[in-house]
Amino acid sequence: MFDTYAKLAEKALTDQPPTPEEASWILDSPEVDILPLLQAAFEPRRRHFGRKVGIQVLNNVQNGLCPEDCGYCAQSKVTDADVRQYPMKSDESIFEAAEEAARGGAMRYCMALSGRGPSVTRAKRLGKLIRTLKDRYGMSICLSAGIMGDEQAKILAESGLDRLNHNLNTSESHYAEICSTHTWQDRVSTLEAARRNGIETCSGLIIGMGETSDDIVEVTYKLLELETPSIPVNFLIPIDGNPVQDDGSLSPERCLRVLSLMRLTNPRAEIRMAGGREGHLRGLQSLGLYPANSLFVGGYLTTQGDPFSETYAMIEDAGFEVQAPEGMPERETSEPTRMRFQIPGGRELIKPDVARLSD
Ligand code: SF4
Repeated sequence: MFDTYAKLAEKALTDQPPTPEEASWILDSPEVDILPLLQAAFEPRRRHFGRKVGIQVLNNVQNGLCPEDCGYCAQSKVTDADVRQYPMKSDESIFEAAEEAARGGAMRYCMALSGRGPSVTRAKRLGKLIRTLKDRYGMSICLSAGIMGDEQAKILAESGLDRLNHNLNTSESHYAEICSTHTWQDRVSTLEAARRNGIETCSGLIIGMGETSDDIVEVTYKLLELETPSIPVNFLIPIDGNPVQDDGSLSPERCLRVLSLMRLTNPRAEIRMAGGREGHLRGLQSLGLYPANSLFVGGYLTTQGDPFSETYAMIEDAGFEVQAPEGMPERETSEPTRMRFQIPGGRELIKPDVARLSD
């Protein structure tokens, strides 16, 4: 058995992905012991990223009002979720937020827009915005804006866009179960258009939406085929009012197996513990840092996440190193140690029975 873990690590270190049989074994075999699996996934992680953990923060510049029916999304036309909806923010307010980020020393500014995808007119507006942001603040710019073709990608590339996010989310065969207004191929084509035009891609998946292990293996290999340098692994956040709800398959161990498979298949990629890590990995979040080398902090598109201080403490307590751009909120170190021992609800600590102790 030891040989299997060593073989998987050795293959990843020489850029050979696991075979489909090995991938299924990683996800499903009762023979798998999670600690040696994580150790195998840690070997390529350590070679390419050391013990550093990249910190990413999401900024929603347009929320809700989407004509698409992605069943997991609280911004879709089919959700009953109670989220704040707003059209694209004014350029001024985007510049303001960017300036604040730049003043704080941020190196990357990520903008996310709801919607099917940008028209050419919208791409031109975004392009102008991106060019100004880069000229003024010199930051790297990421954009998540939906489906697009070469025309929009070219405009964005010429404006200097550094990275385009567009998640595949699940396998081609499972896609119709979660969305009917666009296809999996539409998403693949968007990533291909970005690559053709020289924009770096970021694309990942959401697990816990009723997919099988074969679906996870399929999308993992597709991300490898597309040479995706940045892969967020999302764990479905069940939001009241959304048609797609948590399928109950995500134990912390399942999440760790998926993260390990992703690392062993895509050893050089930035693997991100993304939305839903708090609720699904729970007390085992720090083990996720063995395969993953980055995470989101502070919340997702429509839900809150753990605060910075808690996340930084989790990373450092596990012996990893926060790789946050300057200006990100620092871990609060002034909190007295005794605060960590406070009982929720403020109940009194049990007093020792002095009489009995002195007996
Ligand atoms: S995931 Fe994107 S395209 Fe789908 S409903 Fe949400 S905002 Fe719209």
